[in-house]
Amino acid sequence: MIHDLVIVGGGPAGLAAAIYAGRAKLEGFILEKMSPGGQVLITDLVENYPGFPEGITGFELVEKLSAHAQKFGFGVENGEVQKIEVEGENFNLILTDDRTITSKTVIVATGATHRRLGVEGEEKLTGRGVSYCATCDGPFFRDQVVAVVGGGDSAVQEAIFLTKFAKKVFLIHRRDELRAIKILQERAFSNEKIEFIWDSIVEAIEGKDQVESIRIFNKKSGEVTDLPVDGVFIFIGIEPVTGFVRDLVKTDERGFIKTDEWMRTSVKGIYAAGDCRRKPLLQIVTAVAEGATAAYAVEHDLS
Ligand SMILES: Cc1cc2nc3c(=O)[nH]c(=O)nc-3n(C[C@H](O)[C@H](O)[C@H](O)COP(=O)(O)OP(=O)(O)OC[C@H]3O[C@@H](n4cnc5c(N)ncnc54)[C@H](O)[C@@H]3O)c2cc1C
Repeated sequence: MIHDLVIVGGGPAGLAAAIYAGRAKLEGFILEKMSPGGQVLITDLVENYPGFPEGITGFELVEKLSAHAQKFGFGVENGEVQKIEVEGENFNLILTDDRTITSKTVIVATGATHRRLGVEGEEKLTGRGVSYCATCDGPFFRDQVVAVVGGGDSAVQEAIFLTKFAKKVFLIHRRDELRAIKILQERAFSNEKIEFIWDSIVEAIEGKDQVESIRIFNKKSGEVTDLPVDGVFIFIGIEPVTGFVRDLVKTDERGFIKTDEWMRTSVKGIYAAGDCRRKPLLQIVTAVAEGATAAYAVEHDLS
């Protein structure tokens, strides 16, 4: 069978595309390698999504988005796409379990994933004190000491969240000021549990079976110190999940997919939406807007 549309990825972009595709009576489904929700599933509280002045937990927002997508009949199937091949005017999506799905159009909504520090000890101690998700792992650090690495919105927001559990949170940033928005900065500066370590780079994460300390290099003084901590949370940015289409559609040098304002990529019939796409603001509100636009473009182009 040749489907009208397959959406790869069931984060906010994919789910919003499904709502619009379902209402437009397009035939097809979302392919999601895990459970729908994407990065929102690992976000504690979403404070900036319009319509929820009190904020909404990431989990609740995912439940609402998923239910909304299902309501219009555009379902979610489990599967991980490892390759897309062009066959005439259609696309063959090759899954990791060797299934092949053929579709007239594809929306790539595979989002982004955390960047690693790339230092000694990071890989070995991931899941043993090194984490990229405060919502998932924060409760394991009750009354312990943790370090957060980064200075953007995610780092500061998650550092504040971690003070619910940890007795002390060191925020280590390579510059002498934060990049996070002002409201988060104010909250972090007034939180007594957070101590800032400026101008510093984590050089190594140390510990035998579990994180015991981190080695920090101060760029201004040249001093190297060992800071004893029980956990390290790393929020130093993200990279797009686009490896499986990089030799098919045009991307920028970091791998973000380039599109026009209709979310059309360089290949006719393939669209991209959300964090995998090159754009200035990587947030839920932009992801859902682009998902909607991509589904609208598919409907327009197919008819
Ligand atoms: C800790 C944290 C806090 C955040 N806080 C906020 C906030 O407060 N407000 C806000 O607006 N934004 C926030 N964001 C950003 C926001 O979550 C993202 O901008 C948004 O989730 C992007 O949506 P997306 O659908 O493009 O991608 P994602 O959410 O990354 O979803 C992509 C989906 O695609 C799936 N997938 C990937 N590859 C494949 C494949 N090959 N085959 C099948 N499925 C695949 C993934 O499993 C995933 O479910 C936060 C992010 C993080 C990490």
